[in-house]
Amino acid sequence: MSDAREGAVPHLSAEEFRRLGHRMVDWIADYWARLESFPVRAAVAPGEVMAKLPAHPPEEGLGGDAGWEAIFKDLEDVVLPGLTHWQSPSFFAYFPANASGPAVLGELLSAGLGVQGMLWSTSPAATEMETRVLDWLAELTGLPASFRSDSGTGGGVIQGTASEATLVAMVAARERVRRKLGREAELVAYTSTQAHSSVLKAAMLCGVVRGVSDDVHLRQLGTDGAYALRPEVLERAIREDLAVGRQPFFVCASLGTTSSGAMDPVHALAGVLERTGVTAAGGWLHVDAAWAGSALVCPEHRGMLEGLEAVDSFAFNPHKWLLTNFDCNAFYTRERKALLEALSVMPEYLRNAATASGAVIDYRDWQVPLGRRFRALKLWFVLRHYGAKGLRAYIREHVRLAERFTSWVEADERFELATPRSLALVCFRLRPAPGEEPPATDARNRQLLERLNASGKAFLTHTVLPGVDGAPARYVLRMAIGAPRTEERHVRAVWEQLAALAQGA
Ligand SMILES: *Cc1c(COP(=O)(O)O)cnc(C)c1O
Repeated sequence: MSDAREGAVPHLSAEEFRRLGHRMVDWIADYWARLESFPVRAAVAPGEVMAKLPAHPPEEGLGGDAGWEAIFKDLEDVVLPGLTHWQSPSFFAYFPANASGPAVLGELLSAGLGVQGMLWSTSPAATEMETRVLDWLAELTGLPASFRSDSGTGGGVIQGTASEATLVAMVAARERVRRKLGREAELVAYTSTQAHSSVLKAAMLCGVVRGVSDDVHLRQLGTDGAYALRPEVLERAIREDLAVGRQPFFVCASLGTTSSGAMDPVHALAGVLERTGVTAAGGWLHVDAAWAGSALVCPEHRGMLEGLEAVDSFAFNPHKWLLTNFDCNAFYTRERKALLEALSVMPEYLRNAATASGAVIDYRDWQVPLGRRFRALKLWFVLRHYGAKGLRAYIREHVRLAERFTSWVEADERFELATPRSLALVCFRLRPAPGEEPPATDARNRQLLERLNASGKAFLTHTVLPGVDGAPARYVLRMAIGAPRTEERHVRAVWEQLAALAQGA
């Protein structure tokens, strides 16, 4: 007779978990202390990491904490060599990741509590703390009161990513326009050529576009010399579509584009929607401030908020620049009813008295998935640990370092700024040599970047900016300052290395 319990491995005992947990926290603290000893960009070939892992899952478990020795060994031998070190102080690529101590402890606690916060009733603290913390964040970033939950009509929610935020906004917009019109229509969305690719992905997921190259139903409009969406170009596009019977329903403006940190003129764009009747038809204006939004904790950067009262939704990623580890997107809407109308479904097994009373928020109705973990904890820890003052000082230091870097670029005649600095993002390149063709300048810049990154001492990435007024497109380097451990010496070191490499370029 077979024993159903044969081979059973006991759970980690409280004592074993405690020892392993302490050891893992020690390991992370040591990792952070050794960050500068690793090449910043992973230096492995495709398949190299996988080749170190057995082809089949283990039949025998490791058992208690003694067996875990093998796991800690693998962290060194398998995991570390295959990492790009996003927490390195010399990581200036993309937008740096922001895993601070308080945030990581919040993430650990969330895993330990293991609650599902999909409904208020499935864990009231998960919902109410999220509501409160997002109202705090709205206050800290100077958002209009209409975005706060205590406005009664608006409110904030933590989404996983800016991509999900855009998708949720687009789904809400589609439903609102459908209800206002009382019929199906051929919908068109608008954004700029500089907007993040997640706008296109959202339109694909929504079925608004018929494929990646459908530029009829998602119009990615050309920008001005500062890479910002031009209100008159948007207005012309909207009027063209209205004239042929299409229905404009969604505009995504960017505050801080991924390529160059460009800021769209939100106030003027809202005016276009109003003037063309798109607002009256239920059309939606979403603002994607994924990276730049964190800078709003500083009053001196709130100029970009002009016109935000007229916006339907606004989202930014504390995981990009506000000391919070991935994932954490703060999404705000002025009209939560529109989200509920688009996303709320009620199967029998989720019915409960609190929901029926209408007195609580059920965040599952504000997002794509049903389940949700307790992400407010990490934000709560971050806001309490640093306070408004600490967060402002953090952003200001990165902006100051970017100003320093900008001044070095400007003072070296071999280099030029490709765009004016945006907050802590600097786009720059080697200047064209006299008579040099654009592809040759691009090639020299590509080589410079590859030499720098191959050195392992720092990591930057590039973008291509479209030409303005008929000029050719340009390959440019992006210096994105924003890692929690970056100090002036790291910024200076990468500049000195670039200057030395430029000797031979
Ligand atoms: C990084 C970025 C995104 C995508 O962010 P996710 O949170 O990873 O989806 C979207 N928009 C802008 C402007 C970004 O910079």
